[in-house]
Amino acid sequence: MQYQYHCACCEKVVDSTEKSCPHCGSHHIRSPFGFWIFCLVACLVTTLVFKAVHVYIQSQQEKPAHLSILDVLQEENKRFR
Ligand SMILES: [Zn+2]
Repeated sequence: MQYQYHCACCEKVVDSTEKSCPHCGSHHIRSPFGFWIFCLVACLVTTLVFKAVHVYIQSQQEKPAHLSILDVLQEENKRFR
């Protein structure tokens, strides 16, 4: 599990309260949450794409649905004749 902050220069574990690496003095501290933020964004994008595809499919299915309603009404008219 990579829940620790790491130095981007020497790859050593750095305390989360440290602003710079105590080993090499670098300010490039890699956050362990970058990966999780990426995961969340990826999940969100996937959900949005699925929603968009679902709405698109529903809008495509509405056109024949109107025709079928007309068909049903025509069938009803035939029955009353
Ligand atoms: Zn370092």
